[in-house]
Amino acid sequence: MSVVHESIDDRSKARLFGPIVAMTTAGLALLVFLAVFLVMRFDQVAAQRETRLVQSGFERQLAEFDGIVNPQVNWDDAVLNLDQTFTPGWADLNLGSYLFTYNGFTRAFVLDRNDQPIYASVKGERARIDAYRPFAAAVSRLLPRIRAQEQLRPPLTPSTGNRDIITRPIQAHSIADIGGIPFVIIVTLVQPDVGRIVPRSGRAPISINAIPIDGLMLEAFAARYLVDDLHLHRQAPKEPGITSIPLRGDDGKQIAVLAWTPGQPGMDLLEKIWGPALAALVLLSLIAWTVVRSGAAIFSELLASEARARHLAFHDPLTKLPNRAMLFARLQPRLAEITAGSPPLAVLAVDLDRFKDVNDSLGHHAGDALIQSVAARLRQECDDSALIARLGGDEFVVLLNGTTREAAVAMADRIVAAVRKPHDSEYGRLEAGCSVGVAVIEHAGVDPSEALRWADLALYRSKEAGRARVTFFEVEMDAALRDRRSLETDLRSAMNDGSLRMVYQPQVDRAGRIVAVEALLRWKHPVRGNVPPGVFVPLAEECGLILPLGEFVMRRVFEETGRWTSVRTAINVSAVQLRSSGFAAQVMRLVAQVGIDPTRYEIELTETALLGDDPLTAANVEALKRMGFSIALDDFGTGYSSLSVLQRFSVDKIKIDRSFVATLGGGAESEALVDAMIRLARALKLEVIAEGVETERQKERLISCGCREFQGHLIGMPMRSDDLAALIGDGSSRQEPRQEPGQERGLRRRA
Ligand code: C2E
Ligand code: MG
Ligand code: MG
Repeated sequence: MSVVHESIDDRSKARLFGPIVAMTTAGLALLVFLAVFLVMRFDQVAAQRETRLVQSGFERQLAEFDGIVNPQVNWDDAVLNLDQTFTPGWADLNLGSYLFTYNGFTRAFVLDRNDQPIYASVKGERARIDAYRPFAAAVSRLLPRIRAQEQLRPPLTPSTGNRDIITRPIQAHSIADIGGIPFVIIVTLVQPDVGRIVPRSGRAPISINAIPIDGLMLEAFAARYLVDDLHLHRQAPKEPGITSIPLRGDDGKQIAVLAWTPGQPGMDLLEKIWGPALAALVLLSLIAWTVVRSGAAIFSELLASEARARHLAFHDPLTKLPNRAMLFARLQPRLAEITAGSPPLAVLAVDLDRFKDVNDSLGHHAGDALIQSVAARLRQECDDSALIARLGGDEFVVLLNGTTREAAVAMADRIVAAVRKPHDSEYGRLEAGCSVGVAVIEHAGVDPSEALRWADLALYRSKEAGRARVTFFEVEMDAALRDRRSLETDLRSAMNDGSLRMVYQPQVDRAGRIVAVEALLRWKHPVRGNVPPGVFVPLAEECGLILPLGEFVMRRVFEETGRWTSVRTAINVSAVQLRSSGFAAQVMRLVAQVGIDPTRYEIELTETALLGDDPLTAANVEALKRMGFSIALDDFGTGYSSLSVLQRFSVDKIKIDRSFVATLGGGAESEALVDAMIRLARALKLEVIAEGVETERQKERLISCGCREFQGHLIGMPMRSDDLAALIGDGSSRQEPRQEPGQERGLRRRA
């Protein structure tokens, strides 16, 4: 059971917390992923920006080189010294040395109007014309552009006065690999700047200036553009984290690449914040874990209390056995499983015999101990597949699945035997017995309440048949029950439709004088005919009709016998009436309403009605006695009356049961028994009457034992009130009494 619960709990927990844990983990993972993605994206964008910056920076650098060369060549002075006449010293000073010293141009060449080199300078020093040769190819690709622009330029005429002509520089640059070193080569047409001196012809000389892209230049560039680790490579480096841009010649060929390590602001940021971020992540995980843990604890508690509540709802707190609700819940599917040919299901209704006696005499705690002990015995007897339930009080049900009739009987017998063994408890040794009703369900379509009702019916039969036995349910029992139900309905209406009436049986003294009568109820059923009180009185007791029926009897008897002054009238009162709280008040009301004298009435109680120490019974008997009624103990000797009962309730009379009277004359034993009863009554100063006197011989024996009053067929049959009134001459108009069959004549009128 607990294993099942645990796995159910685990499953429920997993169902509730699985998604929470998964969502939290996914949330944290997403957070980490997002951070990594942002850092990478950040760095990527930064790298792209840096690339653009370097690219445009380099282009600007080239333009700046153009700008540096331009004033030296686009100058009236240059036209004068390179075109009008060629002055190598001027070239040394203004091109070779100047540009090398201040701007790092290591090469300077001059081409004449036929594009032939006429001047060369290397690192600020005049050099041989041969120095131009490595540059010739690269320069020749730029020359056509320069010459074309020169052609397109409007003709220059020398300027005068204020009307200076300002020429636009005609320039081109490219990058070229010269002996393994990339050079920026700038080709500039020699032109006047303000035009005081104009070129000699339509083709002017050309200045070539070249600067190597070397460490020095790159350093300055890197410092200017804040680029880390800038290097020149032949090919783009393959290492990750390095960015490069190609440097191409004017023919589009890649000369070299500028490579550098781009800044990683995202990574830098991450490096700075990873400590706190990790701490926050750990904290978040910790919070999530705590929430889940405490949630799980609360949830476990909820599950546990739910399980407790469920257990309480489906179990009997005293024995911890399943209760009626659980029994029905289990019975339903088991009954539904039954099909023709499948092994049957047996329902055993078990009820303790005389459990009330234990409760009444030893108290409720002893009763509880007995119930617990019986539950333990049932558990011992049944195997695990059986379901044992306590329905309440002393009622148990045992369900046997897939059994046979024989096995069910064997089990029921074992239960009866097990319960019968003494039960040792802190209240001493308790004795109990039980009766069992067995219903074997072999076919489909029986509902749980019907199955239980069948077992109950069989149980009822066990009880009726003398307890401590096992009875099988038979279909006729159900029919008998239905029959009882219809009788019950009829009895309810009988109280109003006149089919109930009273008869009175005389009781005489030794001389045959009628001293009293016993009022007996008769029911003539419209269909069934006469129904004996032995049938309908217990029925009325069971179905709660006995109180109105008892009131009916008492009112009718008071009305019919109220005027009789010469005889007393005995009225039978049931134990159920005596146990009801309003009974004494009801009698008192009737006495007042009809106006009778209670001292002329006797209340007949059975011994069992006075058993136990029911306070209501005692109070009612006492109230009746105070009103003036006398008390007779009916059917004396058949029950369990003890001397204490006779004294405690101040009984006035005992009625020796007719079963003893019937055996009189049959042997010395029965006579001795009756003799003892009469002696006992005398000793306690009680009156004695013998009922069921049918023969003269019985009467003689009774007389010889000392009995003084008699009732029975020998003396007179029960008869209607007016017949009896006629007989006793008390308020009746009729002379000849109408007697029931077998009635003895010869009753003497009371004087
Ligand atoms: P009981 O109080 O012991 O009544 C005596 C029963 O013995 C009556 O049966 C009566 O007809 C019967 N009887 C009388 N003389 C003889 C005889 O010589 N031989 C035999 N064999 N029987 C004799 P009845 O009227 O059938 O009543 C049966 C029981 O029903 C009564 O037993 C009583 O306990 C109960 N009862 C009858 N009327 C009432 C009533 O109004 N209220 C209550 N609560 N119970 C009643
Ligand atoms: Mg009686
Ligand atoms: Mg009797």
